[in-house]
Amino acid sequence: MYQKQDIAKRGTLTRAEYSRLYRLKNRSRLREYGKQWEMLNHEHMLIRARAWKQKDYWKDPEKYRRKRRERYKNNREHYLFKVHVRYYAKKAGTDLTEEQWGAIKKAYHFACAYCGAKGLRLSIEHVVPVSRGGKTTASNIVPACMPCNARKSDKEPPLIPAKRLLL
Ligand SMILES: [Zn+2]
Repeated sequence: MYQKQDIAKRGTLTRAEYSRLYRLKNRSRLREYGKQWEMLNHEHMLIRARAWKQKDYWKDPEKYRRKRRERYKNNREHYLFKVHVRYYAKKAGTDLTEEQWGAIKKAYHFACAYCGAKGLRLSIEHVVPVSRGGKTTASNIVPACMPCNARKSDKEPPLIPAKRLLL
C-alpha cells in the first residue's frame, strides 16, 4: 500500500521507523480504513459461511476427509516436495523445480546418494549445506534417505561421501 509509493520519501529511515511514523501521522485515516475493511470483510465472510453451510460437505464430512487423505496419499511426493521447498525458500530461496527433483531422483535410480538404499522415502539433501551457503538448486541437491539425512549434521562431514552425478 503506502510502502511502495513512499519508498522515495523514506530517506534514511528504516522501513519499520517510517511505518511507525506514518501510522502516527495518519492514525484517524487508518482507523477509518480499518473499520471499512472490517465491515466489507464481515459481509464477505458471511457470504462465504453461508455457501459453506449449503455445501454437501455437511451431508457427509467423512467422505471429504477420506478424499483429502486419498489425494495426499496418491500425491505424497508432490506434497512433500512442496513442504521442503517452502521451508528452504523461507530460509535461503530456491529455484529447484519439482521436475528437476524428479530428474535427480531418477538419475540416482531412486536410491540414497550416501548409502544406496532403495525403497525408502528420499529427502532433498544439500551437498553444500545451507548453513555454509549452499543453495537449493539442482546442482547442489542429491536424494538422501531419512537416516542419512539425519546423520549429516552441520559439524560433521557425511560418513560416506555423496556419489554425485553430473546432471
Ligand atoms: Zn542413506
